Amino acid sequence: MAMSSALRSSKMPNKPDRQVLTLAHGHSSSNMSSVVGQIQQSAGQNQKVPASRRTIASNARTLSVDDDKDSQRVRVAVRLRPRNADEILSDADFADYIELQPELKRLKLRKNNWNSESYRFDEVFTETASQRRVYEVVAKPVVESVLSGCNGTIMAYGQTGTGKTYTLGRLGKDDASERGIMVRAVEDILANISASDSVEVSYFQLYMEFIQDLLAPEKSNISIQEDPKSGEVSLPGAEVVKVRDLDNFVQSLQLGEGNRYAANTKLNTESSRSHAILMVHIRRYIPGKKVDDINCEEKDTGNNLLGVSDKPVIQKSKLLIVDLAGSERIDKSGSEGHLLEEAKFINLSLTSLGKCINALAEKSPHIPTRESKLTRLLRDSFGGSARSSLLITIGPSSQHHAETASTIMFGQRAMKIVNMVKLRE
Ligand code: ADP
Ligand code: MG
Repeated sequence: MAMSSALRSSKMPNKPDRQVLTLAHGHSSSNMSSVVGQIQQSAGQNQKVPASRRTIASNARTLSVDDDKDSQRVRVAVRLRPRNADEILSDADFADYIELQPELKRLKLRKNNWNSESYRFDEVFTETASQRRVYEVVAKPVVESVLSGCNGTIMAYGQTGTGKTYTLGRLGKDDASERGIMVRAVEDILANISASDSVEVSYFQLYMEFIQDLLAPEKSNISIQEDPKSGEVSLPGAEVVKVRDLDNFVQSLQLGEGNRYAANTKLNTESSRSHAILMVHIRRYIPGKKVDDINCEEKDTGNNLLGVSDKPVIQKSKLLIVDLAGSERIDKSGSEGHLLEEAKFINLSLTSLGKCINALAEKSPHIPTRESKLTRLLRDSFGGSARSSLLITIGPSSQHHAETASTIMFGQRAMKIVNMVKLRE
């Protein structure tokens, strides 16, 4: 896999002050809280784990993860947006406080005149990185895993104007090289399935804890359903569009974009305050394949599969592509009292995502996934056996120094989330 070489950092000695995280293989629903359950379950089993299979939790500033191909971690990449015309005119750049070191997959942040701190990511994209390369590194591994039957999530997080929508949602109608992750992912999926398989999409936005359908704007308060047995999260009221070919998907995406603009104009808000979420459902009929051949931990419960172990299976999986609300609103509202409360509510989902990421990174026994709609939606697609990528977007202007630094710290905490380490002994 393209990014795994980034993780081949020197192995750290298993110091007693470092927590060793081991997760038992294969448990029911893949969600953030089940990750925690598995962490607790495997506490005390550490002695049995061979050193090569250990994943060592990082301390605050350095990261060392065993490059075992079985280990799964949220992959985190950073992308710098090129300077726009204004920034070129004003000669804006952040060279005085930030330095990208793509060859080292590292980013250096200046703390004061004397000190700087280095942060390692799975990939650091400079302003010249192409959409294709970003897709291949950030999204392709997740898409491949979704094609093999696991759920997956690709999220973009960053300040408004730093390139989240460009990276994820760009249609590239005139110039295919500009296509973003949503179009490329569906293109990749269509190229890898057969005529008996199906791809369906829903597209919606989450604003003020309301889920608004972007493919059917009259549906403005869709509710989330969670299957108590399998843990599968669904939106039964959402419009579902069957994807016949790439053109028909691009049309749906364009329709959704228009509806997003119209809805936000009506609500008198900016789209940067809402999260746009594309949900891609894949159903694959695999005549020659048995449940045992499916490369996904889900097979243990049959959660994603219809069928029994000695019969051909229909494999169901889901990909979420999430264009998050602008990160600047988390800690900088400048409001007080009632307005502050309102600001918090607008950002409830983003705040709660941050809390879940912190809790997962700290291996807390409680992951507050029920606090918001966004984290409820992610319950079966982020963490556990699902494969997840997070793209951190930053802009080149030194005006936003503080914002950029806090965005980088968010990504750094997500680097510490170890989804699952399978143990086969
Ligand atoms: P966000 O969704 O994070 O608010 P956008 O994706 O809308 O930001 O990007 C802001 C502006 O910068 C847009 O005009 C977009 O076309 C441009 N832009 C962002 N990333 C790039 C890039 N990698 N190359 C060229 N233009 C970009
Ligand atoms: Mg945007």
